[in-house]
Amino acid sequence: MKTLKIAIQKSGRLNEKSVELLKNCGLNFENYKSSLISPVSNFPLEILFLRDDDIPEYVQDGIADLGIVGENVIQETEVEVAYLQKLGFGKCSLKIAITNNSDIEDIKQLEGRSIATTYPVILDKFLKDNSISADIRTISGSVEISPGLGLSDAICDLVSTGGTLKSNGLKPFADVMSSEAVLIGRKGSENELLIQELIQRVQSVLRAKE
Ligand code: ATP
Ligand code: ZN
Repeated sequence: MKTLKIAIQKSGRLNEKSVELLKNCGLNFENYKSSLISPVSNFPLEILFLRDDDIPEYVQDGIADLGIVGENVIQETEVEVAYLQKLGFGKCSLKIAITNNSDIEDIKQLEGRSIATTYPVILDKFLKDNSISADIRTISGSVEISPGLGLSDAICDLVSTGGTLKSNGLKPFADVMSSEAVLIGRKGSENELLIQELIQRVQSVLRAKE
């Protein structure tokens, strides 16, 4: 029997809940901060700890059979993976935000403006769907400070409570997508039985939480 691999985030907002979910599925494994692979002692499974951005491609390419990642990352990386189960944590929304004193009142007024984001693919699609042509400035982080520095007129970023926006003098303006952590797999994997067994365990953990 082949050992399955599941990719989860190594550290960050999804790490703890992903580990907790797998432990609640009855899987025994060590969770050292330094290890990148952890074998599960009571199931033919290995856990790969990765940056979340890499997880969709690892699953698409068959390096991992399964993965836990935010829907936002899947959409942004444009991979072909199967959505197996929504997991109910890591909830957030990708929103366009503007400064509190902005003159923008309608999304059509984003026409010709600049928007800083780490999600250029999703933002581009949103703008096209709304027939808006704006200048997307792709940056790798700290998007919220960009309008204050005069780098952009607006931002497109993940928001959960809105606290970060507020403390940077920004207000949410338009919803681009909502997201939560999902269990993903590859279409046509050869380990169907084991995968089904794991999905069932995940689903019964989620049901017990309802
Ligand atoms: P990595 O080092 O793995 O690349 P990261 O910095 O890209 O991590 P995190 O900030 O840990 O990512 O966020 C991981 C995921 O958590 C996001 O992709 C998103 O799905 C979810 N999430 C939930 N709430 C928020 C939030 N307020 N801000 C950012 N991400 C959030
Ligand atoms: Zn990331």
